[in-house]
Amino acid sequence: MLFLMFLLASLQQGAVEPTADLVLINGKIWTVNEAQPQAEAVACLGGRIVAVGSSSEMRGWIRGGARVIDLKGRRVVPGFNDAHVHFYTGGAHLASVKLRDARSPDQFRERIRLFAAKLPKGRWITGGDWDHENWTPAQLPARAWIDAVTPHNPVFVNRLDGHMALANSLALKLAGIRRQSADPPGGAILRDAQGDPTGLLKDAAMEAVYRVIPPPSAEEIAGALRAAMRYAAENGVTSVQDMSASPDVLAVCQKLLAEGELTVRVYGYQPLATWQRQAAIGLRAGFGNEKLKTGGMKAFADGSLGSTTALFFEPYLDAPDTSGLPSEEMIPDSKLAGHILGADRAGLQVAVHAIGDRANHIVLGMFETAERQNGARDRRFRIEHAQHLRPQDVARFAKLGVIASMQPYHAIDDGRWAEKRIGPQRAKGSYAFRSLLEAGAVLAFGSDWYVAPMEPLMGIYAAVTRATLDDRHPGGWVPEQKIGVAEAIRGYTLGSAYASFDERIKGSIEPGRLADLAVLSDDILTIPQREIAKTRVMMTVFDGKVVFSR
Ligand SMILES: [Zn+2]
Repeated sequence: MLFLMFLLASLQQGAVEPTADLVLINGKIWTVNEAQPQAEAVACLGGRIVAVGSSSEMRGWIRGGARVIDLKGRRVVPGFNDAHVHFYTGGAHLASVKLRDARSPDQFRERIRLFAAKLPKGRWITGGDWDHENWTPAQLPARAWIDAVTPHNPVFVNRLDGHMALANSLALKLAGIRRQSADPPGGAILRDAQGDPTGLLKDAAMEAVYRVIPPPSAEEIAGALRAAMRYAAENGVTSVQDMSASPDVLAVCQKLLAEGELTVRVYGYQPLATWQRQAAIGLRAGFGNEKLKTGGMKAFADGSLGSTTALFFEPYLDAPDTSGLPSEEMIPDSKLAGHILGADRAGLQVAVHAIGDRANHIVLGMFETAERQNGARDRRFRIEHAQHLRPQDVARFAKLGVIASMQPYHAIDDGRWAEKRIGPQRAKGSYAFRSLLEAGAVLAFGSDWYVAPMEPLMGIYAAVTRATLDDRHPGGWVPEQKIGVAEAIRGYTLGSAYASFDERIKGSIEPGRLADLAVLSDDILTIPQREIAKTRVMMTVFDGKVVFSR
């Protein structure tokens, strides 16, 4: 950075000739910089952007050895920053059984059978990402569906939201879950008419199984991260904010960084309940460097809408005996409030998962209290998902400076069936992108991958069309909450950079920023919005180097 400032200063004095190592010309560059929103070309040097302007101006930066890319009129945007992913798990799921698009219980069983047949005895089958809303009736799977085809392999496959998972009988046995087992706080063991566990476990009840799955080796983690980085590069993602970066995953990221293999910037979040460990060594938000950093703490306030565990004020319409489950960390509320207060006082950044309107309301209140008690500072509290909001809580995001970290793809996925669960009134405050922006809140966009595809272009499509995946809402589900393409791009770039305290080094294309760029097949700012779903990333530039091209 010092070098760059020297270089820029020297240039102004005319002391040295402009030189770049990568120059992109003849493009349509959307900079997300209000002072210069559009340009044709950009010059980079040493992993930084050094100049932005017309093609003829940028040609002045080309010397021998510079790589010059003719964009041939293509649209360029800042590299996407996915503000909420589960990077290792996503990478691991790429190699596991694929149940996301299983359309019937038969397909569900058949895919597990085929996958198990190729595995050695005793090897666990995890991941899957199934969705019971994909078959009719939307019946939850049970271990009886798969026991016969998995006699030698323990199975624990999760619903795509990660808030419930199906264990086969072998996995239940290994985890010690039986008829007499009580539901743990914040979790549920589903049971059949005879009172026997069906194999489906919700939220905190899943822990008993996760505990007995052997941890992956460093080599397995590296393999999963490499697959995840490839997938990121194919989708123009140059930064990820990993909500479940375990110490093992961070250690492997560090190794990949040292070996020059890290092709995505990682901001790793640790569980909020472990905040004292970070505080004890003086680690604060932003610890690390431009490629790998930590200091964010993540907690859960509730479950998910799809698993009927998101916490609402009113009961679910299709399950009137429940209005959701507070997370284990919220039993009692004061436990979560205490963690927030302590971590914030230690200078760590706090992000809390809240989906139901009541969970959001409670967490906003805890943030308000923490700010009052710990005093004013640039803390950037985040609510992850902020999915269903009461109108009176929308404005509090702006007032309290709480970042709404949202995943637009969930809206076109959940939007297929959300109203049968929460009704039209609560739907009005669901994925309330427009209302939040109008209130003055910062939107940080992400995918929640593995829960949803890590494909920002699909996320942008979702935010601007709100056209549900089943095509039942071509004009948009809750259309008054649609936003514009430029606003959605901002959410995926500058908005998510702000959410990680990085808006001064990335999220826009301007001199001094990191040279992270995505070149698109079509101009998403001018094509019909329905076609954004078909747009692809043609090239990804990370740290001034091309890491993917189609
Ligand atoms: Zn998540």
